[in-house]
Amino acid sequence: MSININENSCNGCPKRKEGRCERICPGNLIKRKNEKAVIENKSDCWDCAACVKACPQNAIEIYLPEEIGGKGANLLAEVKKNEIVWVIKNQSGNYKEYHLAR
Ligand code: SF4
Ligand code: SF4
Repeated sequence: MSININENSCNGCPKRKEGRCERICPGNLIKRKNEKAVIENKSDCWDCAACVKACPQNAIEIYLPEEIGGKGANLLAEVKKNEIVWVIKNQSGNYKEYHLAR
């Protein structure tokens, strides 16, 4: 598994010294370049999902193994005031939502 950063959705966390994802990654794997976040050394990512939850633009997703989400599935998070909505989407466009309290 690894993450993907959607550069069209990432706004670079303007006015912040570091991107939220950049700041929270325990492996120091994410950097901003040209006002967009990029992950370096994807193989070092251990899928903790901290960056997924930290991004206010919902620009980061985790690729899931086929056994978990089906072929081409990925996991996204939408952080709300009292809950996090985890969404698993597969290649066919089907998705499941899981609502977890914060
Ligand atoms: S999932 Fe965790 S280890 Fe991987 S890039 Fe995001 S914050 Fe870093
Ligand atoms: S937290 Fe989201 S919007 Fe901010 S730099 Fe990272 S990917 Fe871009």
